Amino acid sequence: MSSTPVAPDPSTEPPAFTDLGLRPELLAALAALGYEEPTPIQREAIPPLLAGRDLLGQAATGTGKTAAFALPVLQRMPDDRPDGNPVALVLVPTRELAVQVSEAFHRYGKDLGTRVLPIYGGQPIGRQLRALDAGIDVVIATPGRALDHIARGTLRLGAVSTVVLDEADEMLDMGFAEDIEAILEHAPQQRQTVLFSATMPARIDGMARAHLTDPVRILIAREQPVAGAAPLVRQSAYLVSRAHKPAALGRVLDVESPTAAIVFCRSREEVDRLTETMNGRGYRAEALHGGMSQEQRDRVMSRLRSGTADLLVATDVAARGLDVEQLSHVVNYDVPSAPESYVHRIGRVGRAGREGVAITLAEPREHRMLKTIERVTGQRITIDKIPTVADLRTRRLELTQAALRESLLEDDLDPFRVIVESLSDEFDLMEVALAAVKLAHEATLPGFDEAEEEIPQIAVRPPRPARPEYDSRGDRRGGRPRAGGVTQVFIGLGRRAGVRPQDLVGAITGETRVSGRDIGSIEIADRFSLVEVPIAVADEVIAGLRDSTIKGRKATVRLDRDNRR
Ligand code: AMP
Repeated sequence: MSSTPVAPDPSTEPPAFTDLGLRPELLAALAALGYEEPTPIQREAIPPLLAGRDLLGQAATGTGKTAAFALPVLQRMPDDRPDGNPVALVLVPTRELAVQVSEAFHRYGKDLGTRVLPIYGGQPIGRQLRALDAGIDVVIATPGRALDHIARGTLRLGAVSTVVLDEADEMLDMGFAEDIEAILEHAPQQRQTVLFSATMPARIDGMARAHLTDPVRILIAREQPVAGAAPLVRQSAYLVSRAHKPAALGRVLDVESPTAAIVFCRSREEVDRLTETMNGRGYRAEALHGGMSQEQRDRVMSRLRSGTADLLVATDVAARGLDVEQLSHVVNYDVPSAPESYVHRIGRVGRAGREGVAITLAEPREHRMLKTIERVTGQRITIDKIPTVADLRTRRLELTQAALRESLLEDDLDPFRVIVESLSDEFDLMEVALAAVKLAHEATLPGFDEAEEEIPQIAVRPPRPARPEYDSRGDRRGGRPRAGGVTQVFIGLGRRAGVRPQDLVGAITGETRVSGRDIGSIEIADRFSLVEVPIAVADEVIAGLRDSTIKGRKATVRLDRDNRR
């Protein structure tokens, strides 16, 4: 360890949230959330959006794009909003995203008293009508349901000054182009229009040309490798749901057995929470974040240096300038918000010819960001399977064996000879050795819990085809995938096992990225069930169901024979 991180030098630092011109209520909300600095997209998008410019941004999930458009919308909200009609409309492709984005607006706008409403298909319309009636500032809607409300006269766009099209490529893929056009017809001509898309196919360009006026263009997913790109470090990623992340981190650390590791989190809250969780799980973790005094940082670093701690959980800001010699592993607890940040982080290992390992825990929806990072760094990130309980057991035995080997080669074992000799009168030498190995194994690896549960493996979702094979615009029109693009999955459990349609839908949506409305007819027979899903996601559904249990039981899952081609 050659140096201790010091508080960042403001003269060389990228702009902070306070430099972006945000109002105090928003800065307070960001500080309370533990956001230490803006992500690149926020740095680039917030100032022009505050100035009222239109914007065309290429950025995927995980870049912090939601705050990039939400903060300016909140800041520009007029204090006086007498008629209760929305001043901002955000269109998103899915119900999940509608909920997520409105939660983000809530969190950022809580001190401003902003009224936010997600509206999407599938939710009782009555509740939405009542909320709209009571007065709303920001509506986050899927296009189909937004158009329904416009047609009923319950969503009036006359006061809208900003329209955001979020994940526009997804919306087009889902067949929402006409709905979006129709909605924009109802919005005032004089407005700010913001379009975010993870990819920029010609259709998005066309949409931008038709609806955006002299937009600022921001490209976060750069195609060119960044200067001084990533050093050669073994890079892998694991796809894991949020709920299983702490367990997955523990599992991966156990198998990798790093000399010392740094785990990067997005916010101070996450740093504190994860440090506590990992300590609770028997790891020696220390938190390092920007809210700590220099003295606290020094103390943490000296604990790492002396080997009292072996895991450092940190935010990017706090870890700046940190150079830990014995660091062997960098773990991204979330996919970083920009490829540059990934490169920075993994640059902490693999120095001076030492082998380094970079591990990223990605939620399935962040898979695209991983691809972007691969493109930018020009290096491959292999998607690995989370070690199973059996893998872990094997690895732990290997470690015990290595420790015994070392002891046999190097230690003075004579003082123990008397024990072995006296036991060998009574027992076979092999048995004596086995008992000694067992004790050594348990003593060196006390944290091992035999009851440890398997962590579900998540399959990578195949890329969406340019022309979708199925039409999932169920939002407004009933939710059934069109015949022709669907297939049936056979599940070897049925009525006798107590399986109900909701169990199957729950298992599929819980284990895969497939949403409920992509699931077609469900047939439950006595001993098996058949579920209709789009061909494009059938493999993912099968893999997800095979890895999970339904009604507490493992089932045979395969493509139904009649549907095999
Ligand atoms: P998004 O790309 O908008 O889906 O955001 C990805 C995640 O990053 C969300 O969980 C946000 O809460 C989080 N996030 C956004 N901006 C920041 C920031 N400046 N610092 C820390 N976390 C952030």
